[in-house]
Amino acid sequence: MSKCPICDTPMHKEQREIQKGIYAQVEVCPKCEDEWIDEKEYETLYQMFTRKAFKIGGSLAIRIPKELANVIGLKEGSNVKLAIKDKKLVIEPGS
Ligand SMILES: [Zn+2]
Repeated sequence: MSKCPICDTPMHKEQREIQKGIYAQVEVCPKCEDEWIDEKEYETLYQMFTRKAFKIGGSLAIRIPKELANVIGLKEGSNVKLAIKDKKLVIEPGS
C-alpha cells in the first residue's frame, strides 16, 4: 500500500468515476481526502477507449477522443500519417 505524497498517511484504494463512464482505481488519502492516480493507471485508461468504426463514403472513420488527440497534439485539420505496425494502426501527426 502506498502512502500519501503530502502527509505520508497510508492511502486506501477506491474505484471512482473520474470521467463520465470511465472508472479508475484511485488511491485516496483519508487525511487530505486527495485522490491520486498513478501514471500507469492513466495509460491503462487510455487503452480502454473503444470506438466503433463508421462509414464515410467508401472509407471507414473512427472518432478519436479529444483526450487522445491532445496527447499526440492532433487538431482539426491536422495532417496525419497512417501506418500499420504489428497489425495495429498507428496515427502520427504530420506537418
Ligand atoms: Zn494525505
